[in-house]
Amino acid sequence: MVKSVYIHIPFCKQKCLYCDFNSFQNKEVLIDDYMKALYKECAKFSFSELETIYIGGGTPSFIDSKYIVELLKMLPNAKEITVEMNPCTVTKEKLMDYKNAGVNRISMGLQTTNDDILKTIGRVHTFEEFKKAYELVKEAGFENVNVDLMFGLPTQTIKDVEESLRYLISINPTHISCYSLILHADIFKNLPSDDDEREMYYLTQKLLKQAGYEQYEISNFSKVGYESMHNLAYWNQEEYVGLGAGASSYVNGKRYTNEANIEMYISKIDVGDEIKNIEEVQDEEDKLKEYVILRLRLVDGVSINKVEEKFGVDLIKKFEKEIERLHKLELVEICEKYNENFLRLTKKGMDFANQVWQEFI
Ligand code: SF4
Repeated sequence: MVKSVYIHIPFCKQKCLYCDFNSFQNKEVLIDDYMKALYKECAKFSFSELETIYIGGGTPSFIDSKYIVELLKMLPNAKEITVEMNPCTVTKEKLMDYKNAGVNRISMGLQTTNDDILKTIGRVHTFEEFKKAYELVKEAGFENVNVDLMFGLPTQTIKDVEESLRYLISINPTHISCYSLILHADIFKNLPSDDDEREMYYLTQKLLKQAGYEQYEISNFSKVGYESMHNLAYWNQEEYVGLGAGASSYVNGKRYTNEANIEMYISKIDVGDEIKNIEEVQDEEDKLKEYVILRLRLVDGVSINKVEEKFGVDLIKKFEKEIERLHKLELVEICEKYNENFLRLTKKGMDFANQVWQEFI
């Protein structure tokens, strides 16, 4: 049963240079038509009960909050309702509207406290704007807040990362996501060396641990009880529906992607054409492999009992050779937690996670 909904708002004030999300600047003229199409798409579903709703993008806070309010009226309440906000689009009014509509989690991108680097990577906000926005979010009474950080940025030093982390620790958000820019190395110059980039990651793990954050996924840290329920649904291979241009869904072992072009999305909805393309139809074997890969992203790893229960398979026997190879390379280990055995990444495995995934594809 679908318990999670993702809603995509593809508009941004300015396109960040590293961004490969389905998001666009200078398309404001389409906002009203897009949102009307989104309401129509949403109305096709009758969700009786939801655990999580995630409104992402793009920049959902870039558009008038009335649209978000309208959209949430169409959905049942959920335990976790997140809205992504860009610091320079945060206002008291929008926050109050979100709050009254049931939003209980805000996610904001800081990326770094260094203004020069923010400019280099094309972020539209300054550090000062982030500070003000964060204050407004807290004043509005949002307790559960995620902040995104990035490391491996052009000209960034380990000291820069430390400053960003120390600042974040001082404001104490409940959740911190830290991503490396490494995948976008082709478009930037003056990137830190691979060794420095890894040092930045280790420093992040160390400082956040000291500050009481639990690392629960390769790039995600939270105070106890504040893990992102929505992302956990993805990593637990639970079903979800994605609404909006380019949004993905996973239902009945099928992965779908919506029409990504905003204009096409609007016109297809308008005339009643299909907007969902099937990307993958999984058999049991595909599901199992994907489940293992998704769960290995989590620090706890994949429960051997759970695999048996879910797929009727002994994980260790099924992937005996692969696990042996990875174990010899010290990339995975078996450990006991909650009275169960888990296969999980080692510290080294977190650095070479892609190599581990390859074994299960
Ligand atoms: S604000 Fe987010 S979605 Fe928009 S361009 Fe920047 S990274 Fe991409």
